[in-house]
Amino acid sequence: MSDRKIARALEAWFVDAAREMPWRISPRDPYWSLVSEFMLQQTQVSRVLEKFGPFVERFPSIQSLAEADEEEVLGEWSGLGYYRRARMLHACAKAVVENHGGVIPSDVESLMALPGIGRYTAGAMASMVFGDREPLVDGNVMRVLQRLHNVDQQQTDPATIKWAWERATGLVEASTNPGVLNESLMELGATVCTPKKIRCDWCPVAKMCEALKAGTTESVPPPKARAKRKELFCASVLSVDDDGRVLMEQRGSGGMWANMWQVPTIEREDRPTAVDEVGDDAELVDSFVHQTTHRIVRFDVYRCTLSELADRRYKTQSQINRLGISNAQRKVLGLVFDQD
Ligand code: SF4
Repeated sequence: MSDRKIARALEAWFVDAAREMPWRISPRDPYWSLVSEFMLQQTQVSRVLEKFGPFVERFPSIQSLAEADEEEVLGEWSGLGYYRRARMLHACAKAVVENHGGVIPSDVESLMALPGIGRYTAGAMASMVFGDREPLVDGNVMRVLQRLHNVDQQQTDPATIKWAWERATGLVEASTNPGVLNESLMELGATVCTPKKIRCDWCPVAKMCEALKAGTTESVPPPKARAKRKELFCASVLSVDDDGRVLMEQRGSGGMWANMWQVPTIEREDRPTAVDEVGDDAELVDSFVHQTTHRIVRFDVYRCTLSELADRRYKTQSQINRLGISNAQRKVLGLVFDQD
């Protein structure tokens, strides 16, 4: 099948099929595109759509983001999860200001030298923002390419990854508009050539699809072999004073949820914390399971009165709303008040 034919079909389809996104403006704003690319990694578009506007309103330029405190950035990122990305975006903004005079570079090599920017994000910025003939491959693009060519290989296989980048390069070279071609591949993977409930009837490249011809669309690519996730037991303590303030502490700078804020929480890997280990007046009020990429975290939430310490302070709801708080801890706090 001809790359030129596939590229033309995808580009023509994208003109009508593209979903409206605040960062899909013409011409593209490099800063808005950068923020959206960081936010979209491993996060649903619907959640990013909620957070993108307030984030760029609070930090309207790469300079303002670079000058912000990390805590403010994490606070505005709250609810998006994967907080390492927020720190990386912050570090990236600082590097753009320090090394590039506040102007986001356009070439893949300089982009990849910035914190948090890998080959995919560099390709996305170079092609979609600056119009360079650069390929990109993410999970969506890889799935589309594998189905188009009926390549039944694990997506983690280095040979398959190399093949996908070569195919993406072939298509972008055959395109009229590299940015539109790349975005159409991603959009097709996100809305039509999805992991399940594939909508081949709506697909602009159905006539050229080898998986459709072979009847293997459901089995290509093969499901990922998942590593067993470790269990973690958390006993979180809601201690509320007479003014309705909640006792909060900040996590350390390493590991999961680094530097995020939480109610006082005891963590164990071997077993749940018993009620009498929490406190004399501890009362279990809720239990839930939270899953992360590598962990199954079992939360028990207690009500109990604890004292302030140097690193544990009572905070009002409006103070808490400005802190960086993981989704799991937002759920805990939701037992006391609504989180913005
Ligand atoms: S025809 Fe179906 S399987 Fe093939 S690329 Fe289109 S949506 Fe994907």
